[in-house]
Amino acid sequence: MTLKCSVCGKEEISLLRANHRDLGAIKLCVGCWSKEQSKDRLLPLEGGGSCCR
Ligand SMILES: [Zn+2]
Repeated sequence: MTLKCSVCGKEEISLLRANHRDLGAIKLCVGCWSKEQSKDRLLPLEGGGSCCR
């Protein structure tokens, strides 16, 4: 089963969960994650606990 990145639409086996400023709770690929992260578009996941790197 593959999942689709909510940002670029690419199908990946594993995606990262993130809370996007515009899109809300989404799953995205590593490439998009670091891109959005560097643009400061990702918010911390609620009830997260572990953070970053
Ligand atoms: Zn992507």
